[in-house]
Amino acid sequence: MVSVTRLMEKILFGVAKQWIAGDSINDALESAKFAYKNGRHAIVNKLGEYHTSKKPINQTIKEYKVIMSSFRKWKVRGAISVKPTQVGLSISKKECLKNFQNLIKSASLAHVFVWLDMESSEHTDETMGIYQDLFARYERLGICIQANLKRSENDLKDLLNYGAKIRLVKGAYKENSKIAFVSKDKVDKNYIYLMKLLFKEGNEFGIATHDSNMIKTAIRLSKKFHRRFEFQMLKGIRDELKPKLLKKGFGVSDYIPYGTNWLPYSIRRLKERKRNILLLGSSFLQSHRV
Ligand SMILES: Cc1cc2nc3c(=O)[nH]c(=O)nc-3n(C[C@H](O)[C@H](O)[C@H](O)COP(=O)(O)OP(=O)(O)OC[C@H]3O[C@@H](n4cnc5c(N)ncnc54)[C@H](O)[C@@H]3O)c2cc1C
Repeated sequence: MVSVTRLMEKILFGVAKQWIAGDSINDALESAKFAYKNGRHAIVNKLGEYHTSKKPINQTIKEYKVIMSSFRKWKVRGAISVKPTQVGLSISKKECLKNFQNLIKSASLAHVFVWLDMESSEHTDETMGIYQDLFARYERLGICIQANLKRSENDLKDLLNYGAKIRLVKGAYKENSKIAFVSKDKVDKNYIYLMKLLFKEGNEFGIATHDSNMIKTAIRLSKKFHRRFEFQMLKGIRDELKPKLLKKGFGVSDYIPYGTNWLPYSIRRLKERKRNILLLGSSFLQSHRV
C-alpha cells in the first residue's frame, strides 16, 4: 500500500513538473532547446541547496560543467544559475569562492554567462562579496537582487558603481519585517523604484518577474532609456505572455531547473500563488476519484 506521504509527494510532483525540466542533464538541455526553438534563451539551474558535504557539491560542479560545454553541441544559447549554498557557502565563504572560481574557468572556455542566485538574507553579504571577487576575473557574470529586502537599494547602487550585471526579482524567501518589506504593495513599490535605478544607471540586466504591472513599467522605461535588458521568467509560468514580448522585440529567458531535489523549489512556487495551491487541491481530489 502506498503511504500517505508517498501519495502526497506523487500529487505534488504532478503539479510541480510544469516548472521543472526533469531529473537529468539531458532533460534540462531538451528544455533549453525547446525554449531556444521558441525564440527564448535558457538559464539552467540544478536543483539542490544548502549542501554541507563535498560529494553533492562536487557532483553539482561536475554537472554544471557538462551543461556549459554541451550548449554549443545542442545549439542552445544558455546560461547557468548557481545557488551559492549548492557550491559550498554552507561550509564556508572560502570553499564557495574556490568552487565558483573553478566553475567560471569552464564558463570562460565555453563563453557561458553565469548567474549567482540570491538566497535568504543570512547569505546576502557573503554572496555580494563572492560576486565582487569573481566579477573582477570574469565579466559574463550576474547577481540577483531582491526587492523585498530593505538593504537592496544600497546593494544595487554599490553594484552599479562597478558595472555589475543584475537580475532584479521580488524575493522568494520569507524574511523578518525588520529587514524586509512584507506586504505585496511595498515589495512592488520597491521593485519599481529599483527598476528605475537599473534603467537610469545600469545596462545588461534582467527584469525577472511574472507580474504584468512590473512588465508594463519596464516596457515604458525601455522607451525612455535605451538599455540592453531581457525579461526572465520561470519555466512554465506566463507562457502565454512570452511570445507576445518576443514579438515586441524584447529578449526573454526561461529559468529552467532540473534534478531530483525538486521539493523546496516547488514549495516556493506554490506559496507564490493561491491558484497553484488550488491546483494542488484539485489534483488531490482527482487522485482520490480514480
Ligand atoms: C528568472 C528568475 C530568477 C529568480 N531568481 C531568484 C533568486 O535568485 N532569488 C530569489 O529570492 N528569488 C528568485 N526568483 C523568484 C522571485 O523572487 C519571485 O519569488 C517570483 O518571481 C514571483 O514573483 P513575481 O515577480 O512573479 O511576482 P508575484 O507578485 O509573486 O506575482 C505576480 C503575478 O505573476 C504571476 N505568477 C507569479 N508567480 C507565479 C507562479 N508560481 N505560478 C503562476 N503564476 C505566477 C501571477 O499572475 C501573479 O499574480 C526568480 C524569479 C525568476 C523569474
